Amino acid sequence: MFPVEKIRKDFPILSRKVNGHPLVYFDNAATSQTPQVVIDSIVDYYSNYNANIHRGVHALSQEATDAYEQARQKIQKHFNAKKTHEIIFASGTTHAINLVANGFSSLLKKGDELIVSALEHHSNIVPWQMLCERTGAILKVIPMNHDGELMMDAYDNLLTEKTKLVFCNHVSNALGTVNPIEYIIKKAHLVGAAVLIDGAQACPHIKPDVQTLDVDFYVASGHKLCGPTGVGMLYGKEEWLNKLPPYQGGGEMIAEVTFEKTTYADLPHKFEAGTPNIAGGIAFGVALDYMNGIGFNQIASYEDELLQYATKQLMTIDGLKIYGTSKEKTAVISFNVGDIHPYDIGTILDKLGIAVRTGHHCAQPIMDFFKIPGTIRASFSFYNTKQEIDVFMEGLKRAVLMLS
Ligand SMILES: *Cc1c(COP(=O)(O)O)cnc(C)c1O
Repeated sequence: MFPVEKIRKDFPILSRKVNGHPLVYFDNAATSQTPQVVIDSIVDYYSNYNANIHRGVHALSQEATDAYEQARQKIQKHFNAKKTHEIIFASGTTHAINLVANGFSSLLKKGDELIVSALEHHSNIVPWQMLCERTGAILKVIPMNHDGELMMDAYDNLLTEKTKLVFCNHVSNALGTVNPIEYIIKKAHLVGAAVLIDGAQACPHIKPDVQTLDVDFYVASGHKLCGPTGVGMLYGKEEWLNKLPPYQGGGEMIAEVTFEKTTYADLPHKFEAGTPNIAGGIAFGVALDYMNGIGFNQIASYEDELLQYATKQLMTIDGLKIYGTSKEKTAVISFNVGDIHPYDIGTILDKLGIAVRTGHHCAQPIMDFFKIPGTIRASFSFYNTKQEIDVFMEGLKRAVLMLS
């Protein structure tokens, strides 16, 4: 049996009350909670070896550098990157995508084509639209069906020799759909296009292997993986990272600077200008250790149990519609009840200590597709329980009764 009660003790926040009720935290797709070991690693850094990295000869700087570079190795190992310098620290998924999109400015010309999916988070749409504005490249969209699945026949037809880049999330944050990224990557490579996968929503549930996937870029955020906010990562194949120009200029990213010419540092430092989030990077590594200690297979199968349990109960509510009914999905349920506004239900649930997300989930095109302003989204993590789902169901029934 999955040791959820033991695991819950690792998360101090899970024992607090909200509005007089024990917290039921079902907003994990927005950010995950932080276990004590990760919090401790941040306190330890600032208490014992806070120093700037890569520059000093003194002991603290050495210790901080070693810990930060060890974290990079942990990330490399977790994602099975071939080389440590293929892992670039970023402030999160959004930053990592912008880094790549900016780099492609110099590699694209007018009329080149980019392909995005209909299921994307705004952070995997807007940077590319900005890139298209700069370069005259054209953005095409892989459509989805009413189950919230991408249509691969249509994708096949979008691919041409003009396609330079394809980007797609591994898992949709709004609907939970797991996308067929193996197929997407393989087909893109046949026409010579590069692929960036937004793994922000997949990584809390799935352990991706970037070499097996043969993906060109893969990005994720620490804060959805039990790590702190303000840190994330970009994996890029070495050949691609060498092709891309630096994103930001500054300290740390240079080999030599004169007023006539500056040469850039080698990977990974070329993309890491300025003092990074050192404590955050170290804590990200600790968070990966923590989750690997539990095991991603165990996490995925337990979360699926929660998903099935909650889905079955939700279906018993009159007028409730679930958006995102793909066969392959993670523990995210987006729904509405009749024509009750999602915000009203969310507000009543909050009064009962239950945290869900309401709105468009940074994915307005998906809401437009279903012709709705937004949904209520309950998203589960491995530290949630069936008892919490029962509490949520009671609260939801109460809210529906009050509002209809
Ligand atoms: C959360 C999320 C993002 C944005 O991540 P940030 O940490 O806010 O940069 C992008 N894509 C998906 C699929 C997400 O779930």
